Amino acid sequence: MRQIAVVGSGPAGYYTAEAAQKQWGDGVEVDIYDFLPVPYGLIRTGVAPDHQSIKGVSRRYEATSLSDNVRFVGNVMVGTDISVEELRGLYDAVIFATGAPNDRELGLPGEELANVYGSAAFVGWYNGHPHFANLNPDLSGKTAVVIGAGNVALDVARIMAKTRAEFGGSDIVNHALDLLDASGIERIVFVVRRGPHEIAMTPKELGELGHLEQASPVVEPADLPPESDDAALEPGQRKSVTHLRAFAALSDADRAAKPRRVEFDFFASPIAFLGDGKVEAVEVERTKLEGGRAVGTGETYKIPADIVVGCIGYRTSPVAGVPFDDKGGIFANDEGRISEGLYCVGWARRGPSGTIGTNRPDGFAIVEKVAADIGEGAGKAGFDGFAALAAERAIDFVEFHHWQEIDKAEVARAREDAPREKFVTMEAMMSAAGKA
Ligand code: NAP
Repeated sequence: MRQIAVVGSGPAGYYTAEAAQKQWGDGVEVDIYDFLPVPYGLIRTGVAPDHQSIKGVSRRYEATSLSDNVRFVGNVMVGTDISVEELRGLYDAVIFATGAPNDRELGLPGEELANVYGSAAFVGWYNGHPHFANLNPDLSGKTAVVIGAGNVALDVARIMAKTRAEFGGSDIVNHALDLLDASGIERIVFVVRRGPHEIAMTPKELGELGHLEQASPVVEPADLPPESDDAALEPGQRKSVTHLRAFAALSDADRAAKPRRVEFDFFASPIAFLGDGKVEAVEVERTKLEGGRAVGTGETYKIPADIVVGCIGYRTSPVAGVPFDDKGGIFANDEGRISEGLYCVGWARRGPSGTIGTNRPDGFAIVEKVAADIGEGAGKAGFDGFAALAAERAIDFVEFHHWQEIDKAEVARAREDAPREKFVTMEAMMSAAGKA
């Protein structure tokens, strides 16, 4: 019997478990560890609460968890509760699927000012991640600046632009819904260092900005390159740019009915955050493109800002004893191999890129490598060994049936028209699991 530990229960972790089942059938046991008592990682705390159809993929992960040879082991912090070396001793392979939960920093003066956040914190707040549930951002001001032009920037802007009614059917947590409902934000500005042709926003998600109840998108026609240049774009990018062109064509009359504006400030690179204790403005430098790169022109200006959310990408959390590539913000690895018996997959391997589905082939590829390395397995102790160690150390781990209890309790306490109301503290989750 092969014993595999997967660390992290998000998409990369579950696709890896699925791949291991395909590879070895009942000749493998896969234990999926997570520091939270609840599974699904990014699906639960990263994917936007108003994108429920994307979250539906968790039903597939549930099916994997309910099979005989896959086990969820929650409320266990690898590196603290159990060391990587200990885990290595218990399993033929340890595969890190820990995603990229930390913000990349901009490294700019004033980044420490109050109400300047990274997207991991802000998204974690509205999605009820226990680490960020107490963020309590101040949304009483008029202007929000969102840095970046990727899908996370879009999520953050859209969430700030929506009305309470538009959150119907979503699982946004009550603490965020109440604060957003009382928000004074009227102007949301994307600060984008390159131009319309270089955005990383995908067309379906960008199109949503054109259909908000109270907010309309604003693009300066002069920022758009000649339409004939769009022909050279790949089809998805061309569709995104077509949305930008439609936004640029909106008239003041079209916008009159909607008091909130979501503006694109292209060719603008942030250089400092200004304010006395709390952010009041973002200083930006006008850029131009040179060989596809944003280069400063020396012209600077200030955008008033009551709140700033940087959405410029993420880094993996280092784990004691595992080599780390600090520049890339990922585990140091060679196509997923870290060192003997240690592997990484998904965002922890390649950085925060691609769709959720991209992690499926990634999971299959890592299992092929593990298969080549471990053969029949070395008769390791696997979960029984962990359970003995957990008993010695009083590690109060949970299994999938505990999550099912938490799940039921979250569904039962949902507000009307919401699929669930998440528990946002470890204590509340453990209590709902019948553990405290
Ligand atoms: P992303 O797509 O890589 O976008 C990051 C953005 O930040 C880019 O516009 C980038 O500009 C900008 N940026 C980076 N460093 C910067 C700096 N120092 N100053 C100013 N701007 C900077 O990353 P993401 O939005 O975090 O998304 C991560 C992944 O998750 C992506 O694959 C995304 O598609 C996916 N995702 C999908 C959805 C969905 O609904 N489908 C939702 C959320 C996330 P440059 O291009 O100039 O570097």
